[in-house]
Amino acid sequence: MKKSRMKHIFSLLLMAVVGVALIITGTKISSSNQYPHETINSNPTWTTMPSQDTSSATTSLTTIITETQTTTEDSQESSPSTVPTTSETTPSSKESTVTKPKTTTKPRTKPPKTTPKLKGAAAITFDDGPGGHTSRLLNALKQYNAKATFFVIGSGIANPENQKYNRSLIKRMVDEGHEVANHSYDHKDFTKLSDKDVLSQIRRTSDAISSITGEKPTLLRPPYGSFNRRITNLAEQEGLALVLWSPSPEDWKYKDVDYVYNYIIDHVTAGSTLLLHDIHKTTVDAFIKALPVLTERGLKLVTVSELVDLKPGDVHPSWWWR
Ligand code: ZN
Repeated sequence: MKKSRMKHIFSLLLMAVVGVALIITGTKISSSNQYPHETINSNPTWTTMPSQDTSSATTSLTTIITETQTTTEDSQESSPSTVPTTSETTPSSKESTVTKPKTTTKPRTKPPKTTPKLKGAAAITFDDGPGGHTSRLLNALKQYNAKATFFVIGSGIANPENQKYNRSLIKRMVDEGHEVANHSYDHKDFTKLSDKDVLSQIRRTSDAISSITGEKPTLLRPPYGSFNRRITNLAEQEGLALVLWSPSPEDWKYKDVDYVYNYIIDHVTAGSTLLLHDIHKTTVDAFIKALPVLTERGLKLVTVSELVDLKPGDVHPSWWWR
């Protein structure tokens, strides 16, 4: 009788232990099931993006921008050259397993965000010049008291004998309050050059600029917007911040005054860093047409260094950092 009672108690205890174990396991299963669904629903790109797929990486970058950007920039449009290199922009697998996607979308060990220090201001930047339309552009900028940043090509201004006209334009830019910055010596893709050659591209251009202006530039725009961490490090070493852009009408492709004009007035807002090329007549015509419209809206056009504080090695806009 005693024995069977003991057996009964033992059976009850066993059932209780098994029951508790089942409850614990069940909870764990349900919570681990719930988590991936939350992740997938709230941020699909993290879980679906193959690491070698460049187009997906772009989508993901857009997601990062959308979720982290608090500045007034309203456009994430980018030219083909803005497609990030997959190896350095693909979010790590670690990021995709963190519970709250909002916190994981913040870039890796990235420098501080380059938030515009001036309210109601935008930076207009012109690449690849100076050229045959630059003088006319400078006249219009002067008329509207607007300042711009010119990312110039070193080879076009290096020779004092042959490039007197271009050199006089650089002098005029600085005299009239514009910023002159480095856009390489002959427009090579820096990521395909050795460190030595990148430094040569940077230094020959900065030397050519300072031989006219008396001051070395502090900003570098890598040709095609092509760069990686190695280039950022070399720029930092040379005392330069990297300046990319947002937005861009891809005026090198769309040589159409109305298209570029409409793009500018539709996309340029406070905080924008607009990319244009003053070597194209259509671009200069479109910008001159847009200038009074932007001014009437109360938008102040300033240089990049007036718009944002940048240190050597910084990247602006900061979502380009890699
Ligand atoms: Zn260029």
